[in-house]
Amino acid sequence: MSQKLNSFEIAQQQLRMAVDKLELDASVYEVLKNPKRSMTVVIPVRMDDGSTRVFTGYRVQHNDALGPAKGGVRFHQDVNLDEVKALATWMTFKCAVVGIPYGGGKGGVIVDPEELSRAELERLSRGYIQAIAPVIGPDKDIPAPDVNTNAQIMAWMMDEFSLIKQHNSFGVITGKPLIIGGSLGRTEATAQGVVYVTEDMTKAKNIELEKATVVIQGFGNVGSYAAKILFDKKAKIVALSDVKGGIYNPKGLNPYKVSEHVAATGSVVNYVGAKNITNGELLELECDVLIPAALENQITDQNVDNIKARIIVEGANGPTTPEADKILEQKGIPVVPDIVANAGGVTVSYFEWVQNNMGYYWSEEEVNNRLGQIMHTVFNRTYELYRSNKGINMRVAAYMLAVQRVAEGMQVRGWIGTALPKQKATRISAK
Ligand code: NAD
Repeated sequence: MSQKLNSFEIAQQQLRMAVDKLELDASVYEVLKNPKRSMTVVIPVRMDDGSTRVFTGYRVQHNDALGPAKGGVRFHQDVNLDEVKALATWMTFKCAVVGIPYGGGKGGVIVDPEELSRAELERLSRGYIQAIAPVIGPDKDIPAPDVNTNAQIMAWMMDEFSLIKQHNSFGVITGKPLIIGGSLGRTEATAQGVVYVTEDMTKAKNIELEKATVVIQGFGNVGSYAAKILFDKKAKIVALSDVKGGIYNPKGLNPYKVSEHVAATGSVVNYVGAKNITNGELLELECDVLIPAALENQITDQNVDNIKARIIVEGANGPTTPEADKILEQKGIPVVPDIVANAGGVTVSYFEWVQNNMGYYWSEEEVNNRLGQIMHTVFNRTYELYRSNKGINMRVAAYMLAVQRVAEGMQVRGWIGTALPKQKATRISAK
């Protein structure tokens, strides 16, 4: 039976597993099991009708041993502190497995942004930054987009921080519009990274991507661009979905046309030439590649027995529960874990920050080439460790690489004592 699905407890379990496998000192788990700083803020917002609504927001900095905290801001009615803590923890290990000089952070505001006007959304975004300004900055903690936040919101946030500091601070936020220091390739970066590792994983499983059938849950930033990039590579996108439901056509869907339908109607549902299905049905479709790209806890012990995909690539953070993970392993369905699969976003956020710091901007080709090199390297490292160690899956392998790096960083900084068995450090060095 399913335990209550608390994403933060899941993140702690994943950490525990890696610490145990690496035989690290208990202090590593003790330091990393809780975030270094969790902040709850109250954000009063003047509404268009003159009333005031008070929102609750969070900013969590999980660990910054390897660099400033880094992570997106989510606007969603179901946001809660444990979810933000989980997402911040996953960011620490995502940045570490990729090898970029960041720690992990995350933010969230409890709000359904669909209920707000554009002006109210701007005031909320600015109010959130006023509340967390003491703990963020280009060398401290760098927010970015996540669910229901986008480049426009990042522009307001960067502007507000710059007003508070009385100077332009482009490097405080990533995922900004190009005109104010955004990076070429950032909008599509997470999806582009998902596609790079999908290419690697299909190759490893002898699946021809050009003929592969693909199912994607979530048609937002990650899901819609992943669908388009894979469609351009001749993969067959057979099902897509959003919060309102899914669509299915075994002959294939054109995601560019689906985007036009979404722009006109607000959802993928009722797309002409496809059958409407539920999100539950979508996850259980027969396909070569399943890409969950919506929210946490979608593949659980309740539906895992019915999953028929040949491989799963986690575009979303935390879409698979630990119980489901075990069963997928038994079924021989490899899962490219979130901290590897969706690391393209934070990687290009890092490029954006580097470009802001240098005041020198790269071509889209340069961004994508660098991203491709990093994603393929991270996939290969994770896959090799997984293949050379009995009894671990790719998630544990990725966590082992990540936790090892964070532990090394904490050790040389003097935060913990002798945590690392020497021979292990050499054997799985991420360098
Ligand atoms: P988004 O807000 O752009 O899109 C989310 C999509 O999921 C929308 O289509 C929405 O309708 C759909 N959705 C929401 N609830 C759903 C539900 N219960 N069932 C089915 N669909 C649902 O968000 P995004 O930026 O694409 O993020 C999606 C996932 O990817 C999240 O887990 C996020 O943390 C992760 N992620 C995003 C980035 C990034 O750069 N944006 C980077 C790494 C990871």
